[in-house]
Amino acid sequence: MLNALTIDLEDWPQAVLDPSLPITDHVVGNVDRLLTLLDKHSVRATFFALGKVCERHPQLLPRIQSAGHEIASHGYGHELVYRLTPRPFEDDVRRSIEIIGSQTGQRPLGYRAPAFSITRESLWAGPILANLGFRYSSSIFPIRKARYGIHDAPRIPHRWGNCDLVEFPLATLRVFGCHVPVCGGGYMRLLPWWVHAQAIGSMNAGGHPAVVYLHPYELASDEVGVFRRAGLRFSTRRRVMQSLWRSRMPQRLSRLFDAFRFAPITQVLEAISLSRSSPTVSAAVPGPAAAALPMAASPTYAAT
Ligand SMILES: [Zn+2]
Repeated sequence: MLNALTIDLEDWPQAVLDPSLPITDHVVGNVDRLLTLLDKHSVRATFFALGKVCERHPQLLPRIQSAGHEIASHGYGHELVYRLTPRPFEDDVRRSIEIIGSQTGQRPLGYRAPAFSITRESLWAGPILANLGFRYSSSIFPIRKARYGIHDAPRIPHRWGNCDLVEFPLATLRVFGCHVPVCGGGYMRLLPWWVHAQAIGSMNAGGHPAVVYLHPYELASDEVGVFRRAGLRFSTRRRVMQSLWRSRMPQRLSRLFDAFRFAPITQVLEAISLSRSSPTVSAAVPGPAAAALPMAASPTYAAT
């Protein structure tokens, strides 16, 4: 079973602390480190590229593309979708499409919302993405969390209910009826190995791919401390949560690549057949009927 490996191509201070901060040069070395690791394991991934990063470092996308990876869009400025209105959102995504096109000669087929910010409040983004030519999104985390997530969204790839778009939700582990976030970012660093192995193994056993995500900066074990010493201000809690056990990432990723098969999302999309009975995400369209539209859950979803 092919699983999807996805990388959010972004720079830590701008993406995590404040979207108005400049893109630093750290991202270049971090990408090099990640490309080397992926090449060593002959693993190809989908890179969701942030327009601002590509603009600042135009050499990155051609390098990633020539290594055989898929280039998709992470938008331009890393603004949270649910804090935007449809027009600025569309402008942001269009800008990223133009930059990616000019640097790779290709139009991206996939989109990931910054910080998984497609929630129930921002499902209007789907039809905009479909109209812009995207075939898939990987923006919904089917978990209950304050800043993001649609806790009762399907855990497996499914079609959006309000547009022609396939959603690849981030991997979760089902524990006592709850969805636990796994296999990505801080969850990948901080949770024990068996949690990730169990999550991917159980999804694959049910015939479904898992979507794993990471950021190039997670391979830079000393980076957060460097930024703090350079004068960036953030809480001690954030420093610990963002940097703890980054040093274990190369080993953890190597173990992951040895244990499971990974590919870019477009390849996974080809490999799976999405039947018409796939669960759908209902559209939060304006109007009195919106509240009556339930989130569909399929027997397959409930069984995984
Ligand atoms: Zn991001």
